[in-house]
Amino acid sequence: MKLEYPEIKKRAAKLKFRTKAFIDGDFAAAQSEETFTTENPATGKPLADIAACDTPDVDRAVRAARKAFDSGVWSRLKPGERKRVLLKWADLLETHALELALLDTLEAGKPIGDCATMDIPDTIHCIRWHAEATDKLYDHVSPTGPENLALIVREPVGVVGCVIPWNFPAQMAAWKLGPALATGNSVVLKPAELTSLSAIRMAELAAEAGLPAGVFNVVPGLGETAGQAIGRHMDVDMVAFTGSTEVGRYFLKYAAESNLKRIILECGGKSPQVVFEDALDLENVANNAVGAAFWNMGENCSCGSRLIVHTKIKDELVERVAKLAKTWKVGDPLDPRNRLGAMIEKPHLEKVLGYIAAGKAEGAKLVMGGRRILEKTGGCFVEVTMFDEVSSRMKIARDEIFGPVLSVIPFSTEDEALALANDTNYGLAASLYTQDVNRAHRAARAIRAGTVSVNCFSEGDITTPFGGFRQSGFFGRDKSIWAHQQYTELKTVWIQLA
Ligand code: NAD
Repeated sequence: MKLEYPEIKKRAAKLKFRTKAFIDGDFAAAQSEETFTTENPATGKPLADIAACDTPDVDRAVRAARKAFDSGVWSRLKPGERKRVLLKWADLLETHALELALLDTLEAGKPIGDCATMDIPDTIHCIRWHAEATDKLYDHVSPTGPENLALIVREPVGVVGCVIPWNFPAQMAAWKLGPALATGNSVVLKPAELTSLSAIRMAELAAEAGLPAGVFNVVPGLGETAGQAIGRHMDVDMVAFTGSTEVGRYFLKYAAESNLKRIILECGGKSPQVVFEDALDLENVANNAVGAAFWNMGENCSCGSRLIVHTKIKDELVERVAKLAKTWKVGDPLDPRNRLGAMIEKPHLEKVLGYIAAGKAEGAKLVMGGRRILEKTGGCFVEVTMFDEVSSRMKIARDEIFGPVLSVIPFSTEDEALALANDTNYGLAASLYTQDVNRAHRAARAIRAGTVSVNCFSEGDITTPFGGFRQSGFFGRDKSIWAHQQYTELKTVWIQLA
């Protein structure tokens, strides 16, 4: 269904927000009765007062999750039965897709066009895909001698804490929930404090689909309180985290100082887009480069924020990128004609503007953008921004800006290009463009990143694992069957035969 701007605004105004935690199959205020306020970053106006969960609420949610897990009501259910419930949940998510898209647009400032056509459909597809896999995975029998039988089986880890970011609220929840629930775990999920609404609604719909009470709990709250309580909890068996590298480190510390829970981290990035001089069709390259750099306002872990270009084609590509980027309109995220919405919040907007100032101060050449715009709306809008003549030493080339700021870095040889691509602490994603099949293979293997796209910008699809090398992650891969594996323990059952 294609909706126009006035109708979308009307629907958004009519939305009802669920603002409480969802624990043991029901809504619950925080035990302290404290709340925190979320704002619409496109207007600066308050949206909702959300239950501010803290240690007692996390304790309650973990107790409910443990009880459900130990009872076997979900963890020992036939895989085909789990599949049935999860598929029903996916159907309900689909029925409420526009509502979920609007919730993410209002809280995160993301364009409704993206939420309605990418985030929420991908969320639903992710739940369906993992559900479908549930009763198609086999365990192993080991090749022992005839006097023994050894089974190598996978069992759910137990109670899984999921702590997620604000940039793809529903989708990041689904990337954790799909495989964690499909493999029989119980989950306590903490959404980012800036974007709690879609996760709470997803939990309500899961209960409606028949997910037993306690299997999926949502505890909205701040990172230092609710997030830390999950990280340090002695009865949480595993934490699946997506967020910044800085906060990811805390979870390793929490685990070390508590019960050595399994930790998987999906963290930040500073992804290169390497364009060799023989790249086919520079207009196509420019199109991909603009998408990689500016999609989701650059608030994207795989944001292709470093455009590493051969000097022979650099000026032409920069011109084409600038021309295309100008067509990506910035404005009210509820208007489907806008490709970019608002930055998530004022402090983040200021951080991004600070990086733009640093780029200028360090001598990079500002090609376009660079300013805050639409201030009268009260929203956090920034222009699509591009710097040329950036060196790999500059702050804008090293730090994850998490905004619509593209740095163009020139090179002359393949070795130099690959060295520049790898000159980062991160290693989440990369793109490369060339017509030479040998170079494509050589470069794809040489670049140290979890996903390398050739002649396109992509995060793969649900069938491919997604996660990072180096400080972009820690043992984690979302999506695909590899995601299933990380939510399971490997057990050997060794049998002496008579
Ligand atoms: P963040 O690290 O600030 O927060 C992530 C989550 O951690 C939130 O729920 C937050 O409340 C919680 N948290 C914050 N401080 C905490 C603490 N002291 N203890 C426990 N929990 C705490 O990240 P963000 O700003 O929400 O998201 C942006 C980051 O997420 C970027 O770095 C981006 O690259 C990364 N990200 C990575 C992927 C991926 O798949 N690799 C995907 C999306 C986003």
